[in-house]
Amino acid sequence: MTLAHQKARPIKPGGVYPAKELCSQCGLCDTAYVHYVKDACAFLNQQFDHLETQSHGRQRDLDNPDELYFGVHQTMVAARKTEPIAGAQWTGIVSSLAIAMLNQGLVEGVICVQNSPDDRFQPQPVIATTPEEILAARVNKPTLSPNLSVLEQVERSGMKRLLAIGVGCQIQALRAVQDKIGLEKLYVLGMPCVDNVHREGLQKFLETTSRSPSTVVHYEFMQDFNVHFRHEDGSEEKVPFFGLKTNQLKDVFAPSCLSCFDYTNALADLVVGYMGAPFGWQWIVVRNPTGAEMLALIQDQLETQPVESQGDRKAAVQQSIPAYEKGVTLPMWAAKLMGVVIEKIGPKGLEYGRFSIDSHFTRNYLHVKRKYPEKLAAHVPEFAKRIVAQYKLPD
Ligand SMILES: Cc1cc2nc3c(=O)[nH]c(=O)nc-3n(C[C@H](O)[C@H](O)[C@H](O)COP(=O)(O)OP(=O)(O)OC[C@H]3O[C@@H](n4cnc5c(N)ncnc54)[C@H](O)[C@@H]3O)c2cc1C
Repeated sequence: MTLAHQKARPIKPGGVYPAKELCSQCGLCDTAYVHYVKDACAFLNQQFDHLETQSHGRQRDLDNPDELYFGVHQTMVAARKTEPIAGAQWTGIVSSLAIAMLNQGLVEGVICVQNSPDDRFQPQPVIATTPEEILAARVNKPTLSPNLSVLEQVERSGMKRLLAIGVGCQIQALRAVQDKIGLEKLYVLGMPCVDNVHREGLQKFLETTSRSPSTVVHYEFMQDFNVHFRHEDGSEEKVPFFGLKTNQLKDVFAPSCLSCFDYTNALADLVVGYMGAPFGWQWIVVRNPTGAEMLALIQDQLETQPVESQGDRKAAVQQSIPAYEKGVTLPMWAAKLMGVVIEKIGPKGLEYGRFSIDSHFTRNYLHVKRKYPEKLAAHVPEFAKRIVAQYKLPD
């Protein structure tokens, strides 16, 4: 049996996890490292300042507008693979990097997430030790995924050099325990993440939004203000953001994601997303020298261009706050028209990234303030408080 085929053992099947409804099911509590949960859990102990210093040698510079938004970084660039990987979420930069690191001997294994054999959206975390196992993990499983549930297998296998691929909540917990798992070197490849869902929430989203929920193989909220669905037969379906049935979708997002301020994965060495790049390109944030070393490995597989920024997001964000609160949904013809107009004149590149961060942080700030007022001061990091303070919020 390879490491990729060993299943993680949930030690609390059906049980209540320490963060209760705020648990993002990162998997830490399914391992013996549950002992560290009070310190390590992103929802029980917000500690960006400490963990940024541990990971990157310093905290983000709050007076640098790019660092305020996108976190500690050396460089940002837009990139795409010259030969994209078929079936990847975008062009497959994440999978290619993991394969290069394994093939060149930088790591012995890769924490990534495949899907269960009977459900393409049901995550199955693995420690991949071959390129085939990494490729089998390509494409987003757009649901909460217990990636850290395989951590104990890392220690048991005697592995010393590891690449972990993951989203912010998983990486925050991993950074907090990384010294306890017997590694000599940990590389962290992060993706931005927002509005994730439990498996049932995903079903509701697909059923409320797509014309054919059972054939969706891939979807993404794109920079052209549409959700793009790809179906089994290869066809594409676009649904404008402004036509989403907000009133029915308010409760599909996981409570953890409605309380999260780590959209851009602040603690990864290297982040690969799309939101700061032109449509069709991926957005890469190199946070530290380890991230630069990682990116250099696949530089010859990439076409790149500098990141750009156009437009002004602020009025659109301010207007979206009461619209979301009221659950406004436009008729489809108006939503499409609005989408076309906003794509022409709306924020692009890094400004689109700021638009998305502002919209989610203001919404999440209000959520925490109303639902967990006693947590507000300590849970919301200083960078998010500064971002939110730019807007007039309802009570
Ligand atoms: C849940 C989720 C939400 C995201 N939201 C945004 C966003 O709002 N803005 C943005 O710019 N980018 C977002 N991303 C990142 C983006 O969608 C792409 O994943 C990224 O650009 C990499 O594309 P790729 O083609 O290089 O990846 P691929 O080569 O296809 O590899 C995808 C990798 O994602 C990992 N993965 C899949 N599902 C999960 C999961 N649930 N949890 C942890 N790891 C997973 C797999 O292990 C695989 O290694 C999100 C990613 C995920 C998983």
